[in-house]
Amino acid sequence: MRLILLGAPGSGKGTMAADLAREYQIPHISTGDIFRQNIKANTPLGQEANQYIQNGALVPDSLTIAMVADRLEQADCQRGFLLDGFPRTVAQAEALAELLEKRQLRLNAVIELELSDESILSRLSGRRVCATCGRTYNIDSCRPKQDGICDICGGTLYQRDDDKPETIRQRLANYYRQTLPLSDYYEQKNILVRINNEGEVGSSLPAVLSALKERS
Ligand code: AMP
Repeated sequence: MRLILLGAPGSGKGTMAADLAREYQIPHISTGDIFRQNIKANTPLGQEANQYIQNGALVPDSLTIAMVADRLEQADCQRGFLLDGFPRTVAQAEALAELLEKRQLRLNAVIELELSDESILSRLSGRRVCATCGRTYNIDSCRPKQDGICDICGGTLYQRDDDKPETIRQRLANYYRQTLPLSDYYEQKNILVRINNEGEVGSSLPAVLSALKERS
């Protein structure tokens, strides 16, 4: 199964991606996570990407596309993959199409998670992430049992630098300007599945699985 997840920051892509990766036994490839790992390890890629990420800007296509091309070469992608946070521009989508075409592969579906701006702002500003296992919580709607501590692994919860209000606004503006055109792009290719993700975390998974049944 080869899938893309689209949706504004905070629309629930991370949770949905983890569920789908488990369901289809495919790697969950989050470009944001790969950048953050590189920043933490202080690699040249991380140093370069960090300046953009801190400002809520997109990392340039050339860097991002090369990084994803490299990731898709790895053996675990033979069963398929789920891309989360990539593509984010039409140029990235075209580069991906070219990459797949060369290997005579096709995407099964592009899932777009829809959510109002109001819900997005509240989800992002309340989001806390486990520094150890990456699980996400929300101080309003999905609190850990003990404040600041991950229920699963006991790791410390933190707020991502780019989840601060000024950066959130910038990220949303980027999304509408650069990434929203991707839904038209994939709709024209007849592979877009739109899912309303306003409900409880995880509640729209059955709708996604049923849409994917026809596309596997
Ligand atoms: P995310 O975790 O997906 O919200 O990504 C965090 C940040 O990483 C974004 O705000 C961008 O700065 C950068 N980033 C992640 N994916 C991409 C991409 N496909 N293209 C450019 N920048 C990206």
